[in-house]
Amino acid sequence: MSDDDRAGCDGSDTRDLDADSPLTLPGFFDALSDGDLLAGVCEDCGQVLLPPRPACFACGSRDVALRPQPCEGEVYSYTAVHTPPPALADDAPYTVAVVELASGGRLPGRLDADYEDVDIGDPVTLRTREPTQAELSTALSYETDWPIHVFVPR
Ligand SMILES: [Zn+2]
Repeated sequence: MSDDDRAGCDGSDTRDLDADSPLTLPGFFDALSDGDLLAGVCEDCGQVLLPPRPACFACGSRDVALRPQPCEGEVYSYTAVHTPPPALADDAPYTVAVVELASGGRLPGRLDADYEDVDIGDPVTLRTREPTQAELSTALSYETDWPIHVFVPR
């Protein structure tokens, strides 16, 4: 691969981006396992990118800065999972939600509450835990060290 092959679509240099970068999913979960919830924030339009990514999905800018995020937010949307992957059948039904953090970023994840007990706008806090054996059995090889993030009602 020549250096010319490493240019982004807009001609930007992508050589500084690898799996250790917090602008990638592995980098995001590495930081999360250290207790740091990081988002990319677009320096051009202000969009909060969660998980972080090297380019803004709203305006296409590659001028993205990493910013720590609050672990508190509100339920933006939620649903119940009745038919999970077979390895997680014993967990069903369980609740998943998109949570809007106090920064405006939105992050999907499990919600530690019964579906019937949840409402839009409920305040929640992000926690992390080790994956269960069932969750590990569904993980790809590079995901096994990633923490599981769960929203807990406040
Ligand atoms: Zn943007």
